[in-house]
Amino acid sequence: MHPVTAALLTWYDRNARVLPWRGIHNPYRTWVSEAMLQQTRVETVLSYYDRFLARFPDLPSLAAAEEADVLKLWEGLGYYSRARNLWNGARMVMQQYGGSLPSDPDQLLAICGIGPYMAGAIASIAFDIPVPAVDGNVIRVVSRLFGIRGDASAPAARREIEFRAAALVPPERPGDHNQAVMDLGATVCVPGTPDCDRCPLSAFCDAYARGDAADLPLMPKARKPKTIPWTVLVIRSGSRFLLRMRTEKLLQGLWCFPMLEGHLSPEDLHSAVHSKLHLSAGAVQDHGIARHVFTHQVWDMSLFSLEAPSETAAPAGYEFVEINEIKNRALPTAMKAAVRVLQLF
Ligand code: SF4
Repeated sequence: MHPVTAALLTWYDRNARVLPWRGIHNPYRTWVSEAMLQQTRVETVLSYYDRFLARFPDLPSLAAAEEADVLKLWEGLGYYSRARNLWNGARMVMQQYGGSLPSDPDQLLAICGIGPYMAGAIASIAFDIPVPAVDGNVIRVVSRLFGIRGDASAPAARREIEFRAAALVPPERPGDHNQAVMDLGATVCVPGTPDCDRCPLSAFCDAYARGDAADLPLMPKARKPKTIPWTVLVIRSGSRFLLRMRTEKLLQGLWCFPMLEGHLSPEDLHSAVHSKLHLSAGAVQDHGIARHVFTHQVWDMSLFSLEAPSETAAPAGYEFVEINEIKNRALPTAMKAAVRVLQLF
């Protein structure tokens, strides 16, 4: 066993975070946990994980679910394509493998929503296959440990990171090893200034010896997210409110209040509602501004409420939904401020 791996496993045995998806050999549960953990903090995932598994305890139950029910359980967790991919992937596994995830990383890679990191995580954690699982934490730890100082997003450095990461994976306890690197990256070898004094690998670490750990890995500067102005309308007709299920890639399948491009003034709203939504609405109320930050864009939303006559028919692509029914639809966090407006009624 590589001396780095031995030191890491000794540290892991004493310091492993106790998490409900650990210490089990259940490929489905590993898959669900890894899908939820992408881009999301462990503390946030914990309650979602339990609720999801209470509703969909195994792969066949998830595959048999309605997409809307899966999205509803994911509500607030963000990055909804993960939920849709998990559901589509489960249906694929039912058709192609009779409901059991394969252990071969190449076969896992062919399943909807499973990329190289997740294939490595499932194969190593659930099936004890000695393959790496390279995520952001692993990139950071390995770059620092082996002093890889090229642009970590470029193919050459990336290949070296993957090669080094693979060489550390032991034939015994590969899943524990991969989780140990992730834990070290999440709790000790953190972004910015790492806590090298507490690190079990400091004696082996090139960046520690040279004193440039805080600068690694080298990454190109992220582009600033684009700000998009919207006018979001809470339109009431009797006890119903107008919603639309999004068909765009961002938040596809989730329900939003009507959104018109740009920041419209209260004076312009009636004509815009008439021309875009073919509705005639009464008095307008201004509810201020709300913002929601996605990875690549920011929604800068002016919020208004309007009243349409009761029994108004919904325009094409929209639905008037009874207020009591709205809680059963999956609404994204971006609509949180609009939901607060709705609760005023
Ligand atoms: S010694 Fe510091 S930089 Fe090196 S692996 Fe440990 S925490 Fe990371």
